[in-house]
Amino acid sequence: MSDYYEVLGVSRQASAQEIKKAYHKKARQLHPDVAGPGHEEEFKAVTAAYDVLSDAEKRRMYDLGGEDAVRGNGYAGGFGGDFTDLGGIFNAFFGSGAASRGPASRSRRGQDSIVALEVELADVAFGATKTVTVDTYVTCTTCQGTCCAPGTSPVTCSECNGQGSVQHMQRSFLGNVVTSSPCRACQGFGTVIASPCPDCAGEGRQHVRADVEVNVPAGVSTGTRIRMSGRGAAGPAGGPSGDLYVEIHELADEALTREGDDLYTELRVPMTAAALGASFPLTTLDGERTVSVKAGSQGGDEVVLSGLGVGRLRRPGRGDLHVQIVVETPTRLDDRQTALLQELAALRGEDGFAPAREESLLGRLREKSRSKRR
Ligand SMILES: [Zn+2]
Ligand SMILES: [Zn+2]
Repeated sequence: MSDYYEVLGVSRQASAQEIKKAYHKKARQLHPDVAGPGHEEEFKAVTAAYDVLSDAEKRRMYDLGGEDAVRGNGYAGGFGGDFTDLGGIFNAFFGSGAASRGPASRSRRGQDSIVALEVELADVAFGATKTVTVDTYVTCTTCQGTCCAPGTSPVTCSECNGQGSVQHMQRSFLGNVVTSSPCRACQGFGTVIASPCPDCAGEGRQHVRADVEVNVPAGVSTGTRIRMSGRGAAGPAGGPSGDLYVEIHELADEALTREGDDLYTELRVPMTAAALGASFPLTTLDGERTVSVKAGSQGGDEVVLSGLGVGRLRRPGRGDLHVQIVVETPTRLDDRQTALLQELAALRGEDGFAPAREESLLGRLREKSRSKRR
């Protein structure tokens, strides 16, 4: 990016008056009548420099931190925002006004729409066909998008003779320049609709609430947007439809947790089953399956059921289902069970430990005071 002072050919101490004079001189030199065609970019650069250096605050920011500081301060560069005056002059200069385009078309592309869709884990795992209800527009069935009452058609605008724009003479520092603006009588369309279609008020489209079928592929997740080309709102005056985006919101599952394409679940097994080994039924997305718990399984061990996870997005195959073993220690033992466990402990040489004490805080406090008294 070149230096704004260099672009205008002034010193860094130049006064506001000098900057204005320099800009006007440069702009005149770049006018197509003087310089010939093809100087649009130079004119933009000169005008961008002038925009900054003619504004005391922007100039101060520019002097402090260069161009970035000015941009950070809200100056977007180019023609827009508070730049419209200069933009108008640019258009007058290089003729990108409405005059060169002719009348505008009434029909425009319709808007894109977005709708949220809640899906269950099973929908995400296998893919599903769902229905969403959208508020949208369709091309008016009465006028087929012509906007005219049946049997009528648009008439040429008498204000602009169908040009869609009117010319003005505008005084500027360059002398008189001709600018054009959209015709007010026809809003720039060049034609007037004398009898608007009664069913769409001349808009050429009608508001409807419609059900749309959505193909949800396997492997989508919250935030995934499915684009349905041409399923958005119909445009005014027979314009093409926008796109419909369906945004996925995945509902949490009670039993299964998803991480990418893999699923996780817990299987609670009795201590005895963990020790001896056993098979357990488990409800999966694919129906009931059998989980084999090996003899000697520990809490936290994992049994992987491969291919029972979520289908991969736009790829073949599925993730796995990870079954995490939780060993349940028996509680509320009756006398016989206690005796059996004690016998087992003795057999395994696990009975040499100190007997468990009352574990409550109150119990420990009692113990303490008793030992103090002794
Ligand atoms: Zn209509
Ligand atoms: Zn007109």
